[in-house]
Amino acid sequence: MECLQRKKESILGFDVDLFSFEDAIQFVHQNLKESKGMQIVTINPEMIAIGRKNDDFGRIINDADLVIPDGVGIKLALKIKGTSQQNIPGIEFSKKLIALCELEGYTIGLLGAKEEVVQKAAKNLRDEHPSLNITYVRNGYFSEADENIIKEELKAISPKVVFVALGAPKQELLISKIKAEMPETIFIGVGGSFDVWSGMVKRAPEVYQKLGLEWLYRTMKEPARFKRIFPALPLFLIQVIIEALKEKF
Ligand code: UDP
Repeated sequence: MECLQRKKESILGFDVDLFSFEDAIQFVHQNLKESKGMQIVTINPEMIAIGRKNDDFGRIINDADLVIPDGVGIKLALKIKGTSQQNIPGIEFSKKLIALCELEGYTIGLLGAKEEVVQKAAKNLRDEHPSLNITYVRNGYFSEADENIIKEELKAISPKVVFVALGAPKQELLISKIKAEMPETIFIGVGGSFDVWSGMVKRAPEVYQKLGLEWLYRTMKEPARFKRIFPALPLFLIQVIIEALKEKF
């Protein structure tokens, strides 16, 4: 198998990987086979906006081992910069990774969401993937003092892939605190994916998924989200247009 190398494009100072969906999975598989730990970030415009304000988070994005373009906002930004890129929804990428773990016998951990949600998500995943070995399941509501306990638990159990669902930037900040002591583990922040896998939250209708507008559907359903996300998107695209113009002229 050919050895895949990262090719990146910068958006407002944050590097995004330009792998196709399949190659991104292959890249992770390559690292799994070599027991190379990774931090995977599934990036969207809101996270870039946070990264511009929060240096720690910004650094984590740029130090990540794989930054996946998640949603139409990033796809459009890359287009503005002259790159045609496939949208890779984080939730689908994670599902593919789980199928790979089942196939190859890699253990996984689930950390995040409410207790009943993460338990139900684990149950559904086990039903769907009978050979999948889930060795760690823990909810995402804990104090800072508990972070050390979680780290020790994870180190003892040492799953090959840990899915962390605390929302951004919380999940990325926690991963960055843990990963140095778990150099063979792959961590990925998966936002609200456990809510979907538990069956408690439905994914957007397929037409939204196809257009990369799943975030828009969720935003319309949750007014609090609308206030948070919506103003950020046009502003983000204007900033990217200005950046692209500056690079050209
Ligand atoms: N969550 C958590 N602990 C917290 C805050 C949030 O486990 O302290 C979980 C929450 O239950 C949900 C997920 O993190 O399952 C965040 O989902 P959201 O849709 O807000 O994340 P996004 O996809 O927007 O990053």
